[in-house]
Amino acid sequence: MELTSEFKFHAAHSVKIGDKSEPVHGHTFKLQITVEGKPDEEGFIVDFTKFKKLITEKIITKLNHRNLNEIFPQPTVENIGLWVFKELKEPVHNFGCKLKEVRVFETDSDWVTVREDDL
Ligand SMILES: [Zn+2]
Repeated sequence: MELTSEFKFHAAHSVKIGDKSEPVHGHTFKLQITVEGKPDEEGFIVDFTKFKKLITEKIITKLNHRNLNEIFPQPTVENIGLWVFKELKEPVHNFGCKLKEVRVFETDSDWVTVREDDL
């Protein structure tokens, strides 16, 4: 069974394209974190309160209202997604489930999906 939780953060970035950099601009990024597991005897895949706290502390507070160029050399959604997956993989495993998929949306119509094989 899979469970997905959605988060948002506001951040600015400027991506290098060839030898040029885009003007700095902002997005409301959307993040979808999907975990896989079996519900326990209480009927939960993961303790939702702990799960949300983990993602807020490890990801959202680090990216929200920041200039992403100060964190990533090249802040594309691809690179953000890879970083999110790496940051969450072990802690999610410690919750007794598997990190299945990380989605990072730059807009409602543009997003990346990162899975284990992409690391
Ligand atoms: Zn952008």
